[in-house]
Amino acid sequence: MCENNSLLKKLSECGKELENRNDDLQTWTDSLEELSEIEDAFEPDKRNKLHGKTILDIGTDCVKPLFIALKFEPEKIIGISEDLSVYSFASDLEQKSKLFTGKTKIRLYTCSLFDEVTLNRIKEKEGISKGKFDFVLVSKTLHHPRTGECVAKKRNRKHDCKKDETEKDCIYKFEELATFEKLLELGTRVVVYEFFDPNEEDSDKIRGRGGYFTAKELEKMFKNLAEKYRVELIAPLRLHLDKKELGNIVATLRKVDCVCFYVEEQR
Ligand SMILES: [Zn+2]
Repeated sequence: MCENNSLLKKLSECGKELENRNDDLQTWTDSLEELSEIEDAFEPDKRNKLHGKTILDIGTDCVKPLFIALKFEPEKIIGISEDLSVYSFASDLEQKSKLFTGKTKIRLYTCSLFDEVTLNRIKEKEGISKGKFDFVLVSKTLHHPRTGECVAKKRNRKHDCKKDETEKDCIYKFEELATFEKLLELGTRVVVYEFFDPNEEDSDKIRGRGGYFTAKELEKMFKNLAEKYRVELIAPLRLHLDKKELGNIVATLRKVDCVCFYVEEQR
């Protein structure tokens, strides 16, 4: 009996390990797929690629920096994530990628976008303290920096914040103007790739910070961003976003689950 229990325990541990390895593998293939949509947003020079450019990858999957380094050879890619330990290969990748990415320095840090002290320390250490990154990449991460009040009641009438002490089912409001102001302080061009399907469960949601966008949230975001900034849609359509185009975009987004765009200050 005792032996059986220990075997069962071992089996369950092996199962978990296998699941983790499978997730790791999925990260590599997902990352490739995402990057094929994102790469046009960098508008790389045909000859000089992204030479001399710097990229901050917020909520990094640790893999995209390697692919970007190999293809576009920027000067530096800094990846930050609230929990790098999710990626068992992160430190190996950071160390061993040096063999192939001679032109690009890749650095990965555990750091939250909201942790200004640590973020400033990283920028200082990496020589970006006075300027901005050329690009800030926010891939499958934009639904996390939710900072406003809980809006979960709009999605589920039964939701009651007062009863949900752990805020497990809360979803904070996405405040696009404040969020992009912060992102544009960090970099000249903010490149966003976002998957959206509010019915899909967001597995790395922390309290109210997370939960995929609804079509309404995206519409509000694009409307507010287009009024203040230069917004260029990359996928599923390539176009400059202005008020006239807003209706088109909203109709198009209904047919897809992913969007890629970039935001810059108005010139
Ligand atoms: Zn709530």
